[in-house]
Amino acid sequence: MNQQAKPGLHAIESASRDEISALQLERLKWSVRHTYDNVAPYRAKCEAQGVHPDDLKTLSDLSKFPFMTKIDLRDNYPFGLFAKPMKEVTRLHASSGTTGKPVVVGYTRKDIDNWADLIARSLYAAGVRPGDMVQNSYGYGMFTGGVGAHYGIERLGCTVVPMSGGQTEKQVSQIMDFKPDAIMVTPSYSLVIAEEFERLGVSPEDISLRVGVFGAEPWGEGMRGEIERKLGIDAVDIYGLTEVMGPGVACECVESKDGPVIWEDHFYPEIIDPETGEVLPDGSEGELVFTSLTKEAFPVIRYRTRDLTRLLAPSSRAFRRIGKIGARTDDMLIVRGVNVFPSQVEEQILRDKRLAGVYQIHLSRTGLMDDVEVHCELQREFTGRLTPQEVQLCAKELQHHIKTHIGISTKVVIVDADQLPRTLTGKARRVYDNRPKLV
Ligand code: ADP
Repeated sequence: MNQQAKPGLHAIESASRDEISALQLERLKWSVRHTYDNVAPYRAKCEAQGVHPDDLKTLSDLSKFPFMTKIDLRDNYPFGLFAKPMKEVTRLHASSGTTGKPVVVGYTRKDIDNWADLIARSLYAAGVRPGDMVQNSYGYGMFTGGVGAHYGIERLGCTVVPMSGGQTEKQVSQIMDFKPDAIMVTPSYSLVIAEEFERLGVSPEDISLRVGVFGAEPWGEGMRGEIERKLGIDAVDIYGLTEVMGPGVACECVESKDGPVIWEDHFYPEIIDPETGEVLPDGSEGELVFTSLTKEAFPVIRYRTRDLTRLLAPSSRAFRRIGKIGARTDDMLIVRGVNVFPSQVEEQILRDKRLAGVYQIHLSRTGLMDDVEVHCELQREFTGRLTPQEVQLCAKELQHHIKTHIGISTKVVIVDADQLPRTLTGKARRVYDNRPKLV
């Protein structure tokens, strides 16, 4: 590569478009071939469509290849799309699926290594430096956020504080005692932390944090301003999804704060028309699609993210950026950073024979966090037959099931049969999202 790398950056981050495209093509050929050879369900899709890895001669030839979707993941649950035998898989992660079955992904040692590198690169872009202390308040566990970020924080040469999510008072007292330079957490939870500081009368100047790296859910400029003001930090956006890797597929640069930069040497982005599947030119709004270029255990070819956004021209780095993600093509809700499908709530309701399948999910944001109310109806034969205490208990049970199976706290309200409004034409309206729109 002929360019001089900027200090602290990998050479490819300031390479020319030709150099980036050449690297992408070489890696794309490998990735498509690797997937075709080792992932039988994807090979079958290629055969049905009459394409073969040899047909990939230029980057734009990728558009001839079939998409992968969440349905492929569901149909091949849990390991059917893995391209490596389990003995080479170092780690598994999972995120919620559309039918209650989670999406399971795997990583080889090299995949974990690349992921750590990309999180480290993201943190550097966000303004975190080796030697900084980073409180990692993403949840640890099957979710990619906690453990994924952890490895990258260490890789950059920082001190990781593996706090995980929740325990707001402890989050705050630890920040006061340890004085970390940066925090990684969902943007909505960062505001809860900020509120706790306010409650304690600690002003932003007295909070040690300099940078916050926030992702896993959509947030807008209004929220950025609020977080920055309340915590006295730079708030930077990190994007990712389990199927493609986890957090760190793209991350904003602190100097421009103009949308996450896609790490294009590892992920090839396309924007498509969600109706026709046709590839759209950069700048057009459409569905974001990713092809992994280096992943071994769980490669994805043209994975449809269902996130609606635009590809933007490079600014602070040589790679393209994504615009704010405002909406999705499916009905997935993101509640406090947790992916929730209405069908998962329905499944929990229908486990209880006393409840009918008619329900509503109401989302609001009165304070700083999302509030969720689930309204559902008793079956006719139980209406008038249960005592108010029994109805209360039934609501409590459902709340508990939703919490343990889906991972979100809700308030459940149970009403008598036929009390909820019915949709007379078209799709039943299940979701009433009254959270303020992103600005
Ligand atoms: P993650 O661990 O990154 O939340 P999931 O697979 O659980 O991964 O969820 C991925 C989805 O979360 C994305 O497809 C997108 O809809 C949403 N998401 C993740 N990061 C962001 C972000 N920075 N801005 C907006 N949406 C995001």
